[in-house]
Amino acid sequence: MTKTGASATRLCAACGMCCNGVMFYSMRLQPSDQARSLTALGLKLKRKNREWHFLQPCPAHQDSRCTIYAQRPERCRVFSCRQLQAVEAGQISEAAALEKIDEAQRAVARVRELFHQAGDTRETKAFATRGEAVFTPPLDPSPEATATRGKLALALRELDELLTRNFRVETENARH
Ligand code: SF4
Ligand code: SF4
Repeated sequence: MTKTGASATRLCAACGMCCNGVMFYSMRLQPSDQARSLTALGLKLKRKNREWHFLQPCPAHQDSRCTIYAQRPERCRVFSCRQLQAVEAGQISEAAALEKIDEAQRAVARVRELFHQAGDTRETKAFATRGEAVFTPPLDPSPEATATRGKLALALRELDELLTRNFRVETENARH
């Protein structure tokens, strides 16, 4: 959950995709973020291309809410997904946004199920990490495993397109 406001609270509680490793693998820390404090709060930091990032799924995302809301990183403060922006701008209703979230949750559930079928049961890892592991050789050459990977590849592609269409933002408030 990234925002205050009644609609945002309800939408983010029903969603969580920008905190739970579905949409993002990591987020870059900003100059105003205190790496040591965030680590003490339980976030997992990693240095990448000489910049610090914190990894997802975010350990502070518990019971569909941010447990470190007042101290959350800057990227979390400024981020609003496409659905949240549209509701806050009065362009769509909250019910319409919840329908988009439901649609995304169904696609997420399908991907989770296929990860399990493909042998990856690591619910504490981001989808990007799990996808990389499943498709990195050596691959199980059996027809069953090959068919499952095919279904997973398709489900991941469909989820990615859905997220790009309905949730991701390209502007300065993007999380990366
Ligand atoms: S993707 Fe949007 S609706 Fe979902 S948790 Fe993030 S800000 Fe809230
Ligand atoms: S710090 Fe809070 S808002 Fe930011 S990713 Fe973690 S749970 Fe979500």
